[in-house]
Amino acid sequence: MSSTRSQASSSYAAFHQRSITQRDAFWAEQAGLIDWQTPPRQICDYSKPPFAKWFVGGTTNLCHNAVDRHLKDRAQQPALIAVSTETGREQVYTFADLHLEVQRMAAALLSLGVTQGDRVLIYMPMIPEAVFAMLACARIGAIHSVVFGGFASGSLATRIDDAEPKVIVSADAGSRGGKVTAYKPLLDEALRQSRHQPASVLLVDRQLAPMPLVPGRDQLWSALREQHLYTPVPVVWVDATHTSYTLYTSGTTGKPKGVQRDTGGYAVALAASMKYIYEGQAGETYFSTSDIGWVVGHSYIVYGPLIAGMATILYEGLPIRGMDGQPDPGIWWRLVEKYKVTRMFSAPTAVRVLKKQDPVYLKRHDLSSLKALYLAGEPLDEPTAQWISDALHVPIIDNYWQTETGWPILSIANGVEKTPGKFGSPGVPMYGYDVKLISESTGEELTGPDQKGVLAIEGPLPPGCMQTVWRDDARFVNTYWKSIPGRLIYSTFDWGVRDQDGYFFILGRTDDVINVAGHRLGTREIEECIASHTNVAEVAVVGVADALKGQVALAFVVARDASGLGEAQARLRFEGELMQVVDRQLGAVARPSRVLLVQLLPKTRSGKLLRRALQAVAEGRDPGDLTTLDDPGALQQVRELLAGKS
Ligand code: AMP
Repeated sequence: MSSTRSQASSSYAAFHQRSITQRDAFWAEQAGLIDWQTPPRQICDYSKPPFAKWFVGGTTNLCHNAVDRHLKDRAQQPALIAVSTETGREQVYTFADLHLEVQRMAAALLSLGVTQGDRVLIYMPMIPEAVFAMLACARIGAIHSVVFGGFASGSLATRIDDAEPKVIVSADAGSRGGKVTAYKPLLDEALRQSRHQPASVLLVDRQLAPMPLVPGRDQLWSALREQHLYTPVPVVWVDATHTSYTLYTSGTTGKPKGVQRDTGGYAVALAASMKYIYEGQAGETYFSTSDIGWVVGHSYIVYGPLIAGMATILYEGLPIRGMDGQPDPGIWWRLVEKYKVTRMFSAPTAVRVLKKQDPVYLKRHDLSSLKALYLAGEPLDEPTAQWISDALHVPIIDNYWQTETGWPILSIANGVEKTPGKFGSPGVPMYGYDVKLISESTGEELTGPDQKGVLAIEGPLPPGCMQTVWRDDARFVNTYWKSIPGRLIYSTFDWGVRDQDGYFFILGRTDDVINVAGHRLGTREIEECIASHTNVAEVAVVGVADALKGQVALAFVVARDASGLGEAQARLRFEGELMQVVDRQLGAVARPSRVLLVQLLPKTRSGKLLRRALQAVAEGRDPGDLTTLDDPGALQQVRELLAGKS
């Protein structure tokens, strides 16, 4: 195949190939990017597939690599820059400050009886103490489990029961767009619902909401911190395979799935990604706009940048609100200018929010420090990529990965070889990932260009990827490794195609597949097609049960300019135009049975479209757990539209 040939001749292709064919030698080299107390004896033990053990025999510590290691060269350089446009606070912690604060938190946890292997559940807003808590756990070998602060009691309770934490670290409240959400009552309610009870709850009082304490159980961080201002807490050296954290995947129904991650493999994977993908240099500033409740927050707010010796910005607030609480769609660019951010990481949704604002906000700030913007978590549509690219004049690098993998599966590794990206494609397989496209029906590998298959990864998964599902090895094997008949191969549950140059395109989740009269269609394909109409701002397509065709597609569309669509006739014309676009580009088989104009699509607070909720509502079913839904009004409008009320 020409693509393989043309890639093999370039140096990234050789780098990638070596990572697969000379796996151990490749990763042994990367292991040199971090500090080890004892070097690994064996690079990869894959004697019990699909369970991979990386850097066996090595001992290390994530907190040491993120903090202590940098004290020699950059103790007085910024490490953590905490900015809250919600409270107007801006705090800069140097590596020396961070070292002290983390030890204080570690001492507090030790005083509450936390020992190596114990779980600590962190239910926190985006405040520095959340980062101290994560690093403190890593320091003493405790396993942290961060639960996104936007989750409500029910989701929190199931996670408490699954993780069985000895201690929960939390705070009085979070705040978003000036609206305070009290966390403590949510936590208390979760603890009323959960079977498991922690020995202690450690609470940060931000003075945002009243916080009654439960005597004997609840402890104030301020009091314990005071007691341990200068208590040294040495790093606990743990096995490379020691579990560093669990993180529950979003959007799953039923029992939550705790993605379990190791220590040594994760540290090496992050250090390598900071070098080859994110190209971060020690002393520079990294700004990821994600949340610590998500995997991006773990890898690229906390551990990755710090391991690389960079300062990392922790941001609490909206992208369009300033330090004084007034509207300021330039706030992120203000921070880029002020802290000379070189690498920025965000999500396409956030860019689409900014796209609706006056572009003058981007021009007001000196963004000359910025070298690249990385976007991930959802498909990056071409118009959005083009808009931000024109505005920033830096490479826009899409990267595709999952909570399960911890770092990019597909991207562009400019740190290895400068390579052009292609809009609409997250790029090529990253080193360590033996990515295949598999025919779902036959299990055979698809090697030709433009063939649609399931994106799968041949074992062993590279360092940094999930070890297993927390306390459920069988679920790990059955969910991820057995979905393709006759093969033990990791399924990402995403459809993809590879073009003739070897670039991949993601077509949506395999579990969002639509089967219309026997034709299998990816919702993403139809969405992309509809989105090419100039008056479409956003679109979601879901498959809805149909007595005749099995399923039909329903399209929910947010118009860019809805002012001319007030009249029923104008709406019908617009819908007809959209149907025609689909007819033209994909064929009538993919034409949605209905196009519904909505003001808003139902999304989680992290920006993920809640397709299953949309689908359930469209089918008249219960949409299930909606705790992650950002704006309940979005689903209500859909209900009313379907019922013909508006
Ligand atoms: P999560 O584990 O919540 O981050 O979700 C991972 C899923 O998000 C992937 O399996 C994809 O379906 C989707 N995803 C993540 N990054 C991208 C991307 N760059 N392009 C397209 N889809 C993405």
